[in-house]
Amino acid sequence: MSSHSLLLDALLLFLIILGRYLLTAGGSWWLLRVWGRHRTPEPTPAQRRRCDEGIRHDIRLSVYSAAVFAVGAGLVLWLQAHGLTRLYTRPDAYGWWYIAVSYLAVLVLQDAVFYATHRLFHHPRLYHWCHHGHHRSHHPTPWTSFAFDPPEAVVQALFLVLVVALLPLHLITLVAVLSTMTVWAIVNHVDLDHLPRRFPHHLFGRWLIGPAHHCLHHRRPGVHFGLYFTFWDWIGGTEDRSYAASVGAPAAESGPG
Ligand SMILES: [Zn+2]
Ligand SMILES: [Zn+2]
Repeated sequence: MSSHSLLLDALLLFLIILGRYLLTAGGSWWLLRVWGRHRTPEPTPAQRRRCDEGIRHDIRLSVYSAAVFAVGAGLVLWLQAHGLTRLYTRPDAYGWWYIAVSYLAVLVLQDAVFYATHRLFHHPRLYHWCHHGHHRSHHPTPWTSFAFDPPEAVVQALFLVLVVALLPLHLITLVAVLSTMTVWAIVNHVDLDHLPRRFPHHLFGRWLIGPAHHCLHHRRPGVHFGLYFTFWDWIGGTEDRSYAASVGAPAAESGPG
């Protein structure tokens, strides 16, 4: 592969990843604005200015994230071209059951790595360099879903590269994991004020992380470090005490707030 085509591939991957972000985050933001325009009071000019500044900041960080993930995707393509990934395309290679089980396994593994590294990024020595940008907004929007400081984006992209290098994954499983990441991140960053009053928070409830869970992390950064499942916060003692009651789920038996 020539350096010219490598550069073109990297540019194409960057545009695809950035386009996916602009379409999904922008589309969700537009829908929330249309649905919520009769529900939320008209923002003051100062509130609107603050919100617009926050969105511009989130988009800027997301462009950096897109560049980091494009390098990661380029690395996967290079590894694939050299037979160094465990990606496969024949559904019967490991059986149909494995496609579903490996999908769940990657989500559980990713959640564990995310919880551990997320808590680490909140260490005072790392926070400013690795995670401060994601927390600029106390009231996140879908634009916040991909707004990571570059070191955090590197860790997240590296996780995906290592997974496809080490774990046998059908191409469909990889696409399903990437789609789940995108949709979940957007849903988690819908500020509660923008959601319909009848949003089914109880469907997420005790075990799955939804907007009610993650928005608390943006308002009180000492709680709720998980990504998909609530159990790491439960085990790690970082679950907000009032959370379970607020979504109508049975209260945790242990775990400080
Ligand atoms: Zn967040
Ligand atoms: Zn955080």
